[in-house]
Amino acid sequence: MDMQKPSLDYAQLPISISGFQCSTKPARMNETVPDRSLTWADAAQSVITTGRRAYQRGWLPATSGNLSVRAENGEIAITRTGVDKGSLLLLDILRQPLDQALLPGSSAEAALHLRLYADHADIGAVFHVHSLLSSVLGRLNVTQGHILLQGWEMQKALAGVVTHESRVLLPVFANSQDIHTLSSVIAKSRVQAVPDAVLAPGYVLAGHGIYAWGSDAAQAWRHLEALDSLLTQVSALTAHSY
Ligand SMILES: [Zn+2]
Repeated sequence: MDMQKPSLDYAQLPISISGFQCSTKPARMNETVPDRSLTWADAAQSVITTGRRAYQRGWLPATSGNLSVRAENGEIAITRTGVDKGSLLLLDILRQPLDQALLPGSSAEAALHLRLYADHADIGAVFHVHSLLSSVLGRLNVTQGHILLQGWEMQKALAGVVTHESRVLLPVFANSQDIHTLSSVIAKSRVQAVPDAVLAPGYVLAGHGIYAWGSDAAQAWRHLEALDSLLTQVSALTAHSY
């Protein structure tokens, strides 16, 4: 959910791009790099459009979730806390500098967005939704620490994955209200070796929802849709396995 205003001072968080490189094979943002010339107004409009689409999918009930797009000049457009994502207005979007503490009106979870942008120069958009299957399958797989995606054609919608045979790991973390610690745990996990696997461009918070990102809003949306579709297929397979 959108949470109360955080005590976290984002500016004090370590910022390390090289330190986030994965010794596994991270799903690369591949073809494109973020559009550094995207105006903040265009980024905000992209957030508004994405909010409407995700809300219509039932992924953002009761003002939950948060959405952001990187703009020019080191800023992002990101949803304000507690607003209905299905009918976003421009005043519901914050103009957040990446090198400054969270603005008043920010969701606590905005810190997770900022950490991703800081650690990954190739990320241009981050979408967090409270989809049903990410929340439920997250709880079922939190001990294991990931959901394995393998054998699915839809995997190829993830940048850098070229075959259904690839082992794609969607990390799962225990939910927490301590966003500072959670952010560090997530960042640390990306540098740990996972042999013969590709890390998905996203992660799941158990009993909570999913984060997905991409080089721009279009790719982030494609990744979000693909991951939700994959979780649907995993869920169906699991149900038919009993
Ligand atoms: Zn949330």
